[in-house]
Amino acid sequence: MDIKKRALELKAEVVANRRWLHQHPELGFRLDQTVAFVKEKLTEYGYTPVDCGNHGVTATVGGRHGGKCVLIRADMDALPMKEESGLPFAAACDGAAHTCGHDTHTAMLLGAAKILKEMEDELPGTVKLMFQPAEEIMTGAKSMVEDGILENPHVDAALGTHIMALLPAGQLHYAVGPMFASCDMFTITIHGHGGHGSQPQNTVDPIAVGAHLVTALQTINAREVAPGAVAVLTIGCFQAGAASNIIPASAKLMGSIRTFDPEVRVLVKQRLADITEGTVKTFRAEADLVFDSETAAVSTDPETVRLMGDAMKQILGEDMVFDNLPPFSGSEDFAFVTQEVPSGFFAIGGAPEDWPALPQHNPKIRFHEDAFVSGVAAYVGGALAWLEAHR
Ligand SMILES: [Zn+2]
Ligand SMILES: [Zn+2]
Repeated sequence: MDIKKRALELKAEVVANRRWLHQHPELGFRLDQTVAFVKEKLTEYGYTPVDCGNHGVTATVGGRHGGKCVLIRADMDALPMKEESGLPFAAACDGAAHTCGHDTHTAMLLGAAKILKEMEDELPGTVKLMFQPAEEIMTGAKSMVEDGILENPHVDAALGTHIMALLPAGQLHYAVGPMFASCDMFTITIHGHGGHGSQPQNTVDPIAVGAHLVTALQTINAREVAPGAVAVLTIGCFQAGAASNIIPASAKLMGSIRTFDPEVRVLVKQRLADITEGTVKTFRAEADLVFDSETAAVSTDPETVRLMGDAMKQILGEDMVFDNLPPFSGSEDFAFVTQEVPSGFFAIGGAPEDWPALPQHNPKIRFHEDAFVSGVAAYVGGALAWLEAHR
């Protein structure tokens, strides 16, 4: 089959599916309408969709002649914000918007599913579809992995994608090695001893302790991480107190750590714990440190990503696929899959026409619908090439 030609023929259908999804954004694990839509389309295309994890959907195609299994994944969740794209199919509600483009991923994977079903007899193995919830809160892929998405049949390799409005429409870009940073989100609660603002000697002031702690944590980057290594530690929230004459009993700090190297990640997390414990003890306070989510970095497997990238080049043209994408300091919870199986990951260029190219999560973001043809072809071509090479 000419995969690019078939993807072009299906473009109108992929666009229609994406526009419906775009108009009906849902958050996190609360994806009832989205999941119903995905299952309805998969059933229409001849699949038997199965629930997996919390509001995840999976289905398989092929495997009639045995062979290995490759997983291809799309995420389905939107963001809690108001859309300002001005598009005629903009979100129908104010509380959620597809400003990361996960609606496009879902529609592209549905398009790929349709083509793969048409080729089912010739598939040299099994393709497993993964429609995941809650990527934005870094817990959706984990819920599907814990529910067994990587088994029955066992997944031997995986392929993920993300549309990017800052890259030229239809181009595919990948990195050999690190591609997305790890992300560890944490909350520190400092327990002091509250009292009257005029009598600090009778209190343990958690605000003063928290201020010392925020400053002390900056030394992890400045003094402990090697100059060539990458680590970001951000305190994004410091909450305490309610009045000028009350020393509060507690303070809350929330932050995140990003790294690319697993050893640097371990170091930063350990020093965060040590410095927190030592600093609060110095000032007679106590603290609880809780990691709210822990997501590893996404690193592509060199052999897998090159094999898939070369196949995409053959389908879309030499001038459409690039292997020198610099790593992003953002994160991807597809890491829960890439940690387990060799994986490829591709950024799909989606820069719009007659509209500024904006970063993900911008309320005005738009994507070029021509990008969907490349996305569909990337899913089908990448999966097929991997199965053929490992038949
Ligand atoms: Zn996002
Ligand atoms: Zn995203």
